[in-house]
Amino acid sequence: MALSGLDIYKLLPKTNCRECGFATCLAFAMQLAKKAVGIDKCPHLTSEVKGKLEAQSQPPIKLITIGSGETRLEIGNENVMFRHEEKFFRPAGIGFIVEDNSTDAEIKTKIEKINELKFERVGQRLEVNLVAIRQNKDAKRFIDVVQLVSVNTPLSLVLMSPDAQALKGALEILKGRNPLIYHATKENLTALTQLAKDYKVPLVAQGDDLEKVSELTAELSKQGVNDLIIETGKKPISEKVWDLTQIRRLALKKSNRGLGYPSLVVVEQNDVYAEAQEAATYITKYAGIVLLKGIESWAVLSLLTLRQNIYTDPQKPLQIEPKLYPIGQVNDKSPVLVTTNFSLSYYTVLGEVEASKIPAYIISIDTEGMSVLTAWAAEKFTPQKINESINKFGVKDAISHKRLVIPGYVAVMSGELQDESGFEIIVGPKEAAGIPSFLKNL
Ligand code: SF4
Repeated sequence: MALSGLDIYKLLPKTNCRECGFATCLAFAMQLAKKAVGIDKCPHLTSEVKGKLEAQSQPPIKLITIGSGETRLEIGNENVMFRHEEKFFRPAGIGFIVEDNSTDAEIKTKIEKINELKFERVGQRLEVNLVAIRQNKDAKRFIDVVQLVSVNTPLSLVLMSPDAQALKGALEILKGRNPLIYHATKENLTALTQLAKDYKVPLVAQGDDLEKVSELTAELSKQGVNDLIIETGKKPISEKVWDLTQIRRLALKKSNRGLGYPSLVVVEQNDVYAEAQEAATYITKYAGIVLLKGIESWAVLSLLTLRQNIYTDPQKPLQIEPKLYPIGQVNDKSPVLVTTNFSLSYYTVLGEVEASKIPAYIISIDTEGMSVLTAWAAEKFTPQKINESINKFGVKDAISHKRLVIPGYVAVMSGELQDESGFEIIVGPKEAAGIPSFLKNL
């Protein structure tokens, strides 16, 4: 676990000599804990203290990059077990397995569908990350399929093969694309270590249990391969969840360097519902990469939505810019709907206004990202605040009428808002789903 500023202070000389540029050793320790300065600034550290501080400055879970350019995937470097303690930083990579015993036409069709798995939700783009090519036939077929896939997708690649010759051929084709090799075991360690070193690519280390994985990563690290991802093989879901949880816990709480890497899981379900459920379980329980076979867009969207929710900062709700948004071909007679600047609230209202096909304005009030009822209870969505926003965002210049539609849940403020703003207040539906019929009848 990372040392606190006070823990670090206890290791310092406490002479307050100022040579580090700080007035006291304590001030330096605090900055060191925040990783705002390097330990080299203090020339008076013993080698033992240096060693301790260097070890603590390493992230407990190593940051690993797979792929290159804009579509590269970065995973690891997480600091907490639970998102409310801070936040989770690097969303799990979601990838799809392509079998090399499929026909070229089938593979191309699957890749096209994978490339199209892009969605927009609450103002963010949701995308998948990886294509994994799995060897079932000979080395030549595997290499041909790697070639076929690589020219048809910009996504990062995973090479799933136990055959060092096949992997070597594939790595030659993929120079510069930084693919992930899946996977090294005790048996093929020498050959795959050499490949990972020669081509400078990340490697999955697989062992049946945490002890074996730990031994394997220690050995790989000793041999100079440090860009590692860990896997504990095929197991029932409950055991897999236990492994994922223990790996995270031991890396964070016990500073177990052998397990201080992101984890990968392969979901081998034939039923698309079971596959989505299993993948969702792993996304919620610390998987760094989840590989699937199915590419049904509804299932993928649900996984990406889940991932988006888990990797959102719980202390900073997704927000949009507070302002007056014209939706469609608005004119001065268009209705004005009031909502908050919580992304989910705004985009839900937006979706329904668009569905109604009636041009309208949406004014989003700055509630620091809170939803309507929460903001109202916290006094961030008040008649005064709404009136200020009406003036600030030029509502009176945009429309010639004086009517505002407020969410049904805050009907209670309609009288006060009317007095405050001079607008006629119309109470809209409680649920956004009621907006299309409401607008049609307005
Ligand atoms: S240089 Fe080292 S000993 Fe001197 S004040 Fe800074 S931390 Fe303390």
